[in-house]
Amino acid sequence: MENDLTLIGRSYLNGKPLEINISNGKISAVKPASGIFPEDIYIGPGLFDIQVNGYAGLDYNEIQKNLIDLAKISKKLYEQGVTSHFPTIITASPDQFSKLIHQVMQLRELDELAKESIAGLHIEGPFISPEDGPRGAHPREHVIQPNWGLIENWQKEAEGLIRMITFSPEWENSVQFVESCVKHGILVSIGHTNASPKQIVDAVRAGASLSTHLGNGMHPTLARHPNYLWSQLAEEGLSATIIADGFHLPREVIKVFKKVKDKNLILVSDSVSLAGMPPGDYNSPIGGEVTLTSEGKLHLSSNPKILAGSAMNLRQGVTFLLKNNLATIQEAWEMASIRPYQLFDKGFDSFMVGENADLVVARINIDKHFQILKTIKNGTVVYST
Ligand SMILES: [Zn+2]
Repeated sequence: MENDLTLIGRSYLNGKPLEINISNGKISAVKPASGIFPEDIYIGPGLFDIQVNGYAGLDYNEIQKNLIDLAKISKKLYEQGVTSHFPTIITASPDQFSKLIHQVMQLRELDELAKESIAGLHIEGPFISPEDGPRGAHPREHVIQPNWGLIENWQKEAEGLIRMITFSPEWENSVQFVESCVKHGILVSIGHTNASPKQIVDAVRAGASLSTHLGNGMHPTLARHPNYLWSQLAEEGLSATIIADGFHLPREVIKVFKKVKDKNLILVSDSVSLAGMPPGDYNSPIGGEVTLTSEGKLHLSSNPKILAGSAMNLRQGVTFLLKNNLATIQEAWEMASIRPYQLFDKGFDSFMVGENADLVVARINIDKHFQILKTIKNGTVVYST
């Protein structure tokens, strides 16, 4: 059988020279490579970002005048090595949720590239904590108690595309809600929460399996113990996502989370629309007057201490982990690829013959900068330097 494409580089797993053959969109062979090739070129799985609010000036949380513009997010994320992502829709009125879901569905119908790249939907809210602090930037007037009927309706409108939901188990009917979601194949993540330790344990028993951007969406000051941070760290049934942009979490917090969660720690970008834009002052739907610095920090123009969302992509998160010696190449790459895949498909592994060829060729140079050279989606080169 003729190969459509052959990739050669070091395996992200162990640095050993590797040749990957691709035919008909799938990985057809994986074997040791011979010959000479650059020291710093690596092959690994495509990155998978399960929390993307927006990117490159576009926002999944706004109704677009020209909805096809949203396809630019997928294209721009391919340039960053992100081969799959979940558009993330945050707390809004039930009617607005329907409209925003519909917009993604239409986009997938109109644009093949967006259809391939959008692997599911992440619904973050509206069933979160109403309290200032844990609620974060979610609008209070739309926060409501868990309502399975609403999810059921949205899931119908989304034709099954909703793959995960972030909610707070502090509400009375949380256990039933989690059970319904899990029964219908929706991953339940705990986030923006003010839940008690018992409520967290009960939610995990009912099937909740993840913490959303652990360490963010919290009170600025917490009781030393017990509190919802210790409870989520202690729960072995909970994997956790983190935002590793250098601003949302201090290095030492990431270091501790990684020790506790080990292989269950996952990277997300939680990027907002200003991610991927040039530094400068902007007017944002969340926060008003905001400033994006050249280091990638997005804050209120009036107060640099108040973050206005994450402006980094997943590739930059990997770079941050590597540069700060928080993870090895294998670990950082897995946190942004294999691990999120495994949340939804436990048996998923890298470089499996017969799997869709979603791969990245990257250069990791001496200063540990993670640079994308080539992105392959379903066996097709969708980005190349
Ligand atoms: Zn959030």
